Amino acid sequence: MKRSAFLLAVSLLFMSCATMAQRGQPLVTRAADALGGADTLAAVKTVSLRGTVRQWEPEQSMTAGGEARFACESMFEAVTDVAAGATRIDWSRKFAYPAPRTFTFTEVVTPATGYVAGIDSNGRTKQSLEATPPAHTMSGLRLAATQRELRRGSVVLLHEMLKNPDRVSPVGDVTVGGTAYPAVDYRAGDQTLTVLFDKATGLPARIRTLDYDNIWGDVIFDLVLADWQTIDGVRVATTRRYELNGRTVSETKIAGGKINGAVASDLLAIPEAFRTGAPKPAAGAVPYQWVIRRQFIGTYLDSDAPSYDTRATSSLRLVELAPGVQHVVGGSHHTLLVEMRDAVVAFDAPVSDGHSNWVLGAAKSKFGGKPVKYLVLTHHHMDHAGGLRAYAAQGATLIVGKGTADHYRRVLASPFTRNADLGARDLRGTAIVEVAERHVIADGQREVHAYRIDNPHADGLLIGYVPDARLGFATDIWSPGAGPLPDKLNPALAALVAGVKKAGIEPTRFAGGHGSVADYAPLAALEGR
Ligand SMILES: [Zn+2]
Repeated sequence: MKRSAFLLAVSLLFMSCATMAQRGQPLVTRAADALGGADTLAAVKTVSLRGTVRQWEPEQSMTAGGEARFACESMFEAVTDVAAGATRIDWSRKFAYPAPRTFTFTEVVTPATGYVAGIDSNGRTKQSLEATPPAHTMSGLRLAATQRELRRGSVVLLHEMLKNPDRVSPVGDVTVGGTAYPAVDYRAGDQTLTVLFDKATGLPARIRTLDYDNIWGDVIFDLVLADWQTIDGVRVATTRRYELNGRTVSETKIAGGKINGAVASDLLAIPEAFRTGAPKPAAGAVPYQWVIRRQFIGTYLDSDAPSYDTRATSSLRLVELAPGVQHVVGGSHHTLLVEMRDAVVAFDAPVSDGHSNWVLGAAKSKFGGKPVKYLVLTHHHMDHAGGLRAYAAQGATLIVGKGTADHYRRVLASPFTRNADLGARDLRGTAIVEVAERHVIADGQREVHAYRIDNPHADGLLIGYVPDARLGFATDIWSPGAGPLPDKLNPALAALVAGVKKAGIEPTRFAGGHGSVADYAPLAALEGR
């Protein structure tokens, strides 16, 4: 190499180092120092932490747009082998919603595989149901989401960033609640964490991702770190709060821990039978908010298709309940389709716009290309309304319960550039009809009714009725065919029976947003018992 070329190469090397140094690395270095120093962090081989978690779900609220529902209180013990990138968490989760119950289970997450021993959800997969004792591999979606959150909350995240300066870039100050935080982006695979630093202490204050939420569209998801304590020479945030668009949805309190304690290797082992053929972490469009928050209420279906179990079925499917009446089943959440003279009425838009796209396609081919002109949303919960945009995008009118129209207007006005299933567009012009008591869609051939009923599940909840088929449709207050009826009416079932009576309708059967279809008379007969 000629001398001039050599000097040029050397100077380019220095320039790139200098550029890299300007590119946010001083913030990372300062934070690492504040956490105990680069050498201390580099020497962390194992991390054991125990504590409690409380969680709230904003989109399972009683009132649309109202106070978040308290979902769960958990105790956990977590151990991490830093070099192996493996973590085990033993959980005891006490759920308050949708029904009180406790799940005790273990998660083991390695770079390649996620494993769950025990029952962690009411939405059990075929694999979990067939395993003795119950166990299953995590879907690629859950594995990717869990790995992201373990990285975000890791005691050694800053050391990982220190070792990978090429994946760190400054993003300028980010202002939260009037305070400016210097910040950097850190890329790990196709995930980006934005780390906001406290100007005074240099410690990481917030770790942010930009997610998609099926109700609120583009959302900000922050882990807020506070109450720093020193555990075996390493600073650890002992309060960790997740904020979704500024609202607290989860709060972890670390009660104690140990750095570099002995960890038995078999603690982190995944049985061979569950490692073979296990899904790899999903890349690209992971519906993080769905995967994470369905676990808050213990109903997550751990599958790589968010709305059905890929180990049990390959698709959703239609079941004909009456002429021109199709129940969309095969997944965890159902839609009812009713054919009119030149339009189709749909009840509920569950899970995602991906789910809705399937339903809209199936309706089109089943009903000779007739458009779905009306979407009746029984209630505002994220699992039954999260696919509303696909219907709005093709011009459907929303039929919703009293007191909820403003909520849906705000939802439809929210940007959704990160929606993997539907391109961004302006949905603010969507027509919304609010039902105070009763709404009838009629075309001279067929009527479809919606009735608002008082109930303990969600304010403004609607039930559907197709008079010529004497078929009702209910979501969450009754799951027809999902199991035997109780001996006595519970408050939700009593609300349905009272609502049917008040409406003056005479259903012989009900189809459900969950479950399947069942005769109504046995339910009505429980009244007064
Ligand atoms: Zn609900």
